[in-house]
Amino acid sequence: MDINKYDASVQIWIREIIENSVTSPEKTLKFCNDLIEYATSHQDVSLLGFGYFYCGQVYYCLNDGKNFYDSLNMAVRFLDQGGEYELMARCYNFLGIKASNGGNIPLALEYYTNGVKYAVLHDLKEQEALMNINLGGLFHRTGRYQEAQRYYKQAMEYFMSLPMDEAVHTFLLALECNRVKTLVALGYFPLAEDAIAGIKTKHWNYVTQIEQSIVHCAEAILYHEEGNYEKRDEIAKQISGEICSQMAILDYFDDYYDYARMLLDTDLADDFWKVVDTVEPLIKNTASTDLMLKLISLKIQYYRKAKKSAEYLQEAGLYYELSEHMEAETREMVNNVINLRQSLEAANQLRRQVEAQNQILVEKSEMDPMTRLANRFRLTDYSEDVFTEAYNRQTPLCVFIMDVDYFKEFNDNYGHQRGDECLIQVAECLRTVADDHDGFAARYGGDEFVLIFEDTNIEQAFEYAKELKELVLSKNIEHAFSKAIPQVTLSQGICCDVPGKNTKMWDFLHKADENLYAIKQVSRNNYCATNLTDEIKKTGGGV
Ligand code: GH3
Ligand code: MG
Repeated sequence: MDINKYDASVQIWIREIIENSVTSPEKTLKFCNDLIEYATSHQDVSLLGFGYFYCGQVYYCLNDGKNFYDSLNMAVRFLDQGGEYELMARCYNFLGIKASNGGNIPLALEYYTNGVKYAVLHDLKEQEALMNINLGGLFHRTGRYQEAQRYYKQAMEYFMSLPMDEAVHTFLLALECNRVKTLVALGYFPLAEDAIAGIKTKHWNYVTQIEQSIVHCAEAILYHEEGNYEKRDEIAKQISGEICSQMAILDYFDDYYDYARMLLDTDLADDFWKVVDTVEPLIKNTASTDLMLKLISLKIQYYRKAKKSAEYLQEAGLYYELSEHMEAETREMVNNVINLRQSLEAANQLRRQVEAQNQILVEKSEMDPMTRLANRFRLTDYSEDVFTEAYNRQTPLCVFIMDVDYFKEFNDNYGHQRGDECLIQVAECLRTVADDHDGFAARYGGDEFVLIFEDTNIEQAFEYAKELKELVLSKNIEHAFSKAIPQVTLSQGICCDVPGKNTKMWDFLHKADENLYAIKQVSRNNYCATNLTDEIKKTGGGV
C-alpha cells in the first residue's frame, strides 16, 4: 500500500497498526476503528480493506473466531477493489491457517490453492512462497510427503533468491526443518541427517533459541526413528533446557506436538511433561479449542500408558466437554465460511469484470501493430466522437476509404513480406497527409485504410486526395503486375457532408465505400468524392 499518498495523521495510524498488530491488540483495534471511520467518510476502499484486514489479524491472535471472520469478510470486499492485492493474498493465507488449525484440511487446501493462484496472477512472490510452505505442511499432515517436498522446494527457491538477513535465515531454517520431517517420514534418514547438518552450518547463528529448539525437535524424532536412542535422549535433554514460555505458540505448536507424541513412545516422562507444562498455559492463553484438544489427547495417551486411571478419566471428561464446545465452534465456522465465500466470490467476480473491461480498453486503444496506425476499435470510438462534434457544431465531416489497387497480385507475385512493407509505406503516406491537415488515419483491415478530417469541405478533401495520390506515387513502389500502372497506387472513395438529424457515422463510411467501389469500376489510382446525397460529385483523373 502506498502510504505516502495519505496525510500525516493517516500515515501515523497505518504505521501504528502495522507495528502493534501482534503485540498490542487493544491499541491496534482502536487505531483500526479510527482508520475505518476515516476511510468510510472518505470512501477510500484501500484504507477500508487495510483497516478490516488488521482487525482480522488482531482477532486471529486473540482467537476470536466470530470477529476474525467478520473482519476478513469485510476486508476482502474492499481489498481487491482497491487494488491491495498483497493484503488480499494474505487474507487467503490467513483463512487457510485458520481452517487448518480448526482441523478442516479440505477447506484449508482450497484457500491456499486459490491464494497461490491469486498471488501468481498478481506476481506476489513472497505471499506465493508463504502459502507454498503452508500447502507443504498440509500435504505432510495427510501423508503425501513427495508433494509436500515439492511445495517446500518452490518456497525455498524463492527465499534462496533473496539477500540473506535474519528473517530469510529464519524462513529457510523453518523450511529445512519441515523438509527434515518429510525425509524422516519417508525413511530417508541419511538425507535428513545431512539436512540437519546443513541447517546448523548455514542458519544456526542467525536464529533464536526457540527456532534452534524446533530443529532439535525434528532431530530427536529422526534419532528415535533411526533407533539411535542415545542421541535422541541427549537431544531431548537439550530441548528441555531450551524450551521457554516466550514464544509465539501458534507458530510452533505442531513442532512441539510431534515431538511430544514421539516422547510417548519413550521413557522420557520428564521431558514429555516439560513440553506439555510449558505449552499448556500458552495454549490456554490463545483459547484455541482445537490445539487444547490436541494437548489433552497427549495427556490422555500418557495417563493411559502410565495406568493412572483417575487422571485419565479426568482428562477424558475434559476432552469430551471441549469436543462439544469444538462442535459448536465448527458449526459457527461453517456459517462464517459460507458468508466469507460469498464475499470472496463477489470480489473475484468484480475483478473479472474489471479485467474484462481493461482488456477491452487495451484492445480499443491498441494500434494496428504493423502499420502503427489506429486500429478498427480506435477508429470506431474516434469516428463516433467526431461525428457527434460535427453534428453539434454543424460543420462538414470528411471520411475517406482507400484501397491498394491490385494488391492481391502484388502479394501473390512479390510475397507476403514485400506486401507488408508496401502496406507500411502506404500507411506512412496516410499518416503524413493526416498530420498535415489535422486528420485521423486508421487501418480498416487488409489493404483498406480510412482517413477522417473534421471541419473540412469537399474542395479541401479533394485536394487532400490528390496529395495522397501523389505522395504514394512519389514512393515509386514497383508493381509490375498492376493492371493500372507498374507501380503501387491507391483508389479513394470520399464522403463529405454536414451530419443531419437522421444520419449516422455509418452513412458516411458506407457512402465513402460506395464511392470507392464506383471509382474502381471505371479507373484506378483515382478518387471520387460526393456528399451523402450525391448532389455534389467530384472525380479525379485516374488510369
Ligand atoms: P482491388 O484492386 O480490387 O482492390 O484488388 P485487390 O487485389 O487489392 O483485392 P483484395 O482487396 O481482395 O486483396 C487484398 C489482399 O490483401 C488479399 C490479402 O491476401 C492481402 N492482405 C490482407 N492483409 C494483409 C497483410 O496484412 N499483409 C499482406 N502482405 N497482405 C495482406
Ligand atoms: Mg485492394
